[in-house]
Order: sequence, then C-alpha cells, then structure tokens
Amino acid sequence: MSTHPETLALHAGWRRDEATTSVAVPIYQTTSYQFNSTEHAANLFALKELGNIYTRLTNPTNDALEKRVAALEGGVAALAVASGQAASAMTVQNLARNGDNIVASTDLYGGTWNLFANTLKDQGIEVRFVDPEDPAAFARATDDRTRAYYAETLPNPKLRVFPIAEVAAIGRPLGIPLIMDNTAAPLLVRPFDHGAAIVMHSLTKYLGGHGSSIGGIIIDGGNFDWEAHPARQPALNTPDPSYHGAVWTQAVKGIGPVAYIIKARTTILRDLGAALSPFNAFLIIQGVETVALRMRAHSENALAAAKFLQGRPEVDRVIHPSTLTGVGAERTRKYLPNGMGGLCGIELKGGMEAGKKFIDALKMFYHVANIGDARSLAIHPASTTHSQLNQAEQAATGVSPGYVRLSIGIEHIDDILADLGQALDAASK
Ligand code: PLP
Repeated sequence: MSTHPETLALHAGWRRDEATTSVAVPIYQTTSYQFNSTEHAANLFALKELGNIYTRLTNPTNDALEKRVAALEGGVAALAVASGQAASAMTVQNLARNGDNIVASTDLYGGTWNLFANTLKDQGIEVRFVDPEDPAAFARATDDRTRAYYAETLPNPKLRVFPIAEVAAIGRPLGIPLIMDNTAAPLLVRPFDHGAAIVMHSLTKYLGGHGSSIGGIIIDGGNFDWEAHPARQPALNTPDPSYHGAVWTQAVKGIGPVAYIIKARTTILRDLGAALSPFNAFLIIQGVETVALRMRAHSENALAAAKFLQGRPEVDRVIHPSTLTGVGAERTRKYLPNGMGGLCGIELKGGMEAGKKFIDALKMFYHVANIGDARSLAIHPASTTHSQLNQAEQAATGVSPGYVRLSIGIEHIDDILADLGQALDAASK
C-alpha cells in the first residue's frame, strides 16, 4: 500500500464488500450479528476470536473508517465514536481514574476546556493546565499520579502550533503518553511522527468536511511502551475487574501493540456507549476520500485571506500561523511545512461592536459554530463557543472580546476576499 495520503484516503481499509463486491463501503445498518454457534459466540465475548457482536462495540462501516483514518495518521488501529467530545473524554478516561491527573495545554477548544475543568474534575480526574509556550511546564506540573499529557496541534483561536516532539520527549521516559487533538490539521501534521502516542479528531470538522455529521475518532500510534512503567499506567497493567481480571498489556500480546485502543473499545465504549452511527460513518468516509485535496485548498485560501486582511485598515491584528514571530514562527516552520490549515482570526479596531457588525454583514460566509466545513464559516467566540468560560479562562485560551474566528473554505478565493472586504466596509460604518 502507498504511503501517500491522497492514495490512502481512497484505498486504505477497504477494497470491496466480499458478499456483494460493492466498491462503496456499504452502510451496515444493523445492531447485531448472527453467531455461527455457541462456541463462536463465547469466543467472541472472551476476545479469543475477533469479530462483530453488537454495533455499540464494532460495525463494518465504522471499521472501514477506523482503518482509513488510522492509515492516514500512521497509527496501528482506531476507534470511531459519536463525537469529538466523546473522543476527548474517552482518551483520558481510558487511563485516568478517580484521584489521578493529566497535564493539558491551556490552548484548547472551549468544549474540551469545560470537559476538563468541570466534568472530569467532578469525576475525580484533575486536569492541570499549563502554557505550552514553555514545554518544561509539563514536567513541572507532573507528579506520580499524572497519567497523560493532552494538547491540540493547531489550537484556535491562538493558532500557535503545539511543541509536539518537545512535550512527547518529556513524557516518554516517565511513561506518560502525549495525546494530541489533531482536528484542525489532518494530513498537514502527523503527531505520531513527532512522538505523540495517541491522536484524536473531531470527525465533524475537516475529515468529514461537509458539515453533515458529528463524529469522533481515537487513533493508537502503537508506538508507546505501556509496560515500561507499570506503576504509571495501572489501567493497562493491573487486572481489570470489568473483563475477568484481564491485564490489557498482556491480553493483547498476540494481536499487536493495541492495548490502549482495545481497552478503550471493550471497556469505555462498552460502558459509556457513545458509539458512532454507521450512517454517519458512511457520510464521513465520503469526506475522508477528498481530505487531501481540501486541506491543500483550505491552506492556500486561508493564507491568501490572512494576507488580504493584514492589508485592511479596519483590522488591528490577524491571527494565522504565518503571522507568528519568534518561537511560534519556528514551530510553524517545523510542524506545518505542507500548509498551515484553514483557520484564521481577526481582531477589529472597533472591538466587540465592529466584530458583531462584521459577522452580520457577511453574505457568503455562514455564521455557525463549526469549523472545517468545505464552506467558509465565521463566528464570534467570546459570545458563543467560549461563552461558558469566565473572562480569565477566555483570556487563557486566547479569546479576546473582539476576536472573530474564520474557517476559510474551498470556494474561489476571489469570492472569499470579496465577502470579507464588503463585510469590513460595513463594519467600519
Ligand atoms: N476538538 C476540537 C479542536 C474542536 O474544534 C471540537 C469541536 O469544535 C471538538 C474537539 C469537539 O468535537 P465535536 O463537536 O465533534 O464533539
């Protein structure tokens, strides 16, 4: 199989349906799978044989999506789930228990921030937030009960690329995996190549690409030695009472380096139940097939839009990886040599009022909460996506009152610039 993403996006994980020879991945819209015999059923439940039991656990449509995205990220296996939020929560819950902690970057999507600062905290999992400007902050926040590091590759709104290799290298000798949310930069950066152990995506965004389906995915890099520091990772190295006392690092020995992802499927997904609908998996697969082309077009258009906006007198500041200086610029060069993604932010001289007028004046851009759609999108985070954060938390995640987030689409660049231009004219009146 090729290693080129353009080819993998079309061919990895699926050739044809063996029963019907269908080339498109069928939607296996079923809850359950007929067992061949009682022995077959018992073997499946005991994980002696791998196969389908029930769609909350596995489904052939989802399987094709999982294999394809795992191949694109350079991982060994993946688990598709109901949303990006479910994926974020499960990446942590698979390792951390009541009394444990993780260390996370401050640069996070507002929903992830809420999950970490409130819901996981209520479940007894502490999340310690540190500024990724200084990677050593992760080491300083670590103690004996730190189970993982967590960050976003290209976090909006700041759009400063996370130092993946630097933080992964701090964690590995301690037995601490780096979990990367790569939602904003599929194909542009592969976090496993830089030492991350687990990658997750909101499939809702660029991988799905068409604004039709919510989904999430967790990918196991198969590159992390979970047994090297058994006391650090008790969830994978001590008997699991929910699965006949299985010790996951031992139980999967015959299958491959997949302890983390098998445990996520057989315990966390089994128990919390946030399974992806096969219908959504089918729609997301259609998106994945063209993601290489789209990421190229998003990156080109967003760079052109950033340059255009920098030249406009109404704009105080343009936030785009190309406008960073110092260590931010170095990291952009290191991690995003093949394109800087489709996101771009602006702060207007007229502050909050100008921001609102600007968004109301947009004609082609959609005013929506999403990012990564093929269409161009805009939103005012302080009053929407980040509104449940207090002002200090908003400031920590980079949301100023006048910030407008743009998700630049793949329309013709002339139409994108024309719409931005006329909305800026309207906002300054
Ligand atoms: N991670 C990032 C970076 C996101 O932008 C989002 C959604 O906006 C999520 C996770 C959550 O994904 P979902 O909306 O699919 O639950």
